[in-house]
Amino acid sequence: MSRRDLPAFNIADLQVLLRRREISPREVLETLQTRIEDIDGKIDAYLSRDFETALKEAEKVDVDLPLGGVPIAIKDIISVAGQPCTCASKILANYRAMYDATVIQKLRAAGAIPFGKTNMDEFAMGSSTENSGMKLTRNPWDVSRVPGGSSGGSAAAVAADEAFGALGTETGGSIRQPAAVSGVVGVKPTYGRISRFGVVAFASSLDQVGPVTKTVLDAALIMNAIAGHDPSESTSLNEPVPDYTAALGKDLRGVRLGLAKEYMIDGTDPQVKAAVDAAVKHLQSLGAEIVEVSLPHTEYAISVYYILATAEASANLARFDGVRYGHRAENPKDLLDHYGRTREEGFGAEVKRRIILGTYVLSSGYYDAYYLRAQKVRELIRQDFAKAFEKIDALVSPTSPVPAFKLGERTADPLQMYLADIFTSPANLAGICGISLPCGFAEIDGARLPIGLQLLGKALDEARIFQIAHAYEQSTDWHKARPSLTEIPQAA
Ligand code: GLN
Repeated sequence: MSRRDLPAFNIADLQVLLRRREISPREVLETLQTRIEDIDGKIDAYLSRDFETALKEAEKVDVDLPLGGVPIAIKDIISVAGQPCTCASKILANYRAMYDATVIQKLRAAGAIPFGKTNMDEFAMGSSTENSGMKLTRNPWDVSRVPGGSSGGSAAAVAADEAFGALGTETGGSIRQPAAVSGVVGVKPTYGRISRFGVVAFASSLDQVGPVTKTVLDAALIMNAIAGHDPSESTSLNEPVPDYTAALGKDLRGVRLGLAKEYMIDGTDPQVKAAVDAAVKHLQSLGAEIVEVSLPHTEYAISVYYILATAEASANLARFDGVRYGHRAENPKDLLDHYGRTREEGFGAEVKRRIILGTYVLSSGYYDAYYLRAQKVRELIRQDFAKAFEKIDALVSPTSPVPAFKLGERTADPLQMYLADIFTSPANLAGICGISLPCGFAEIDGARLPIGLQLLGKALDEARIFQIAHAYEQSTDWHKARPSLTEIPQAA
């Protein structure tokens, strides 16, 4: 193996080399650093890197641990002690995390090395990473297009072989959608499966951390490390964590897969539809049985999501007041001026829009009409899934109705941007789990753009969606395709 090939490795294959002592954690980090230096000028997936600290950690790491010596990129909304944690917001531009989030503690305990923070939509609000207050990230498959969002930096880094794996977060699709349009695997775990302690809150009843990887096996490996109960997080579920790799390799005979007629919408790109239809046939050929189900309240999901997510965000973001941390306006004339100008200067347009919308739907007089009603419809959406899961083991759909769109194409119209979440946000509202994995390509204007297949599973049934996703992945070649931009030049 040449060192130049190494960045293209997935985590499982990298571990083989590490455990055989064919390569050291230090060499892995140095090779990755070179790769990032070579390529990130084109992609801009990272907001910060600290290879100096990472290299020190590499010296003492035990490579026989579950993720021993594996560098992992971290979305810049998750606290890594001593590292910047900006949430891609100017308001936190100079903030450094004081402690490790629980997921980081767990990654370290498993031997992984967090070395860099990835770009995102500001406070995870967006579907294209264009709302970043720091910079644009480009899709490695076509640098004139978005990598999806809000975990766009994590998805682009993994797709461009600038990371072996990454952590992202989801509130309404922010792991699955960028994974889909960047051609990688992304998992939204069950609400409460993974601790959010040390993760900056956007909408606390929806937020969840999850892996972004090159393969389903790698996602299962990261899940093994980060899932589980955390007494410091009140919504963390106290349930045993299975070995997520144990389900991989089982065949699909007897597995019931649901297709919901409400997910066959007009706005879906015909190439996306064709790829997902073909994937369904393929899953059938592997032994899965297809069952038609109905999720009648799907059409309300986006509205409900954007009421609840903005309401919760308006409360969560109140803490950015320039008093304890982050940006502070200069020479305020009084306290109100201090708050007003700090937030005016620190927050970007989308974050302000969400705070205003959220404050509005919570205000007296509108609370019942919007917030309370949205809560009720959320319950109906949850029941839709509960009923469907009586008949099926997992639901199949596209992850995103469209492949990666052009930078700037949707920024003028927030509603258009919100529609990117149509297939993903229902799972967050229902608290269930989901995965996106590559299932084909769309040819658009000469570009070859990845398409994502979504599988949704019932709460705490991650093992099942991993099993199905793995069976599909291992009998197809989509996950092996790499963007040509990042073809690793052969050593002379
Ligand atoms: N695109 C959605 C939003 O803008 C989802 C974001 C997320 O999952 N963090 O809110």
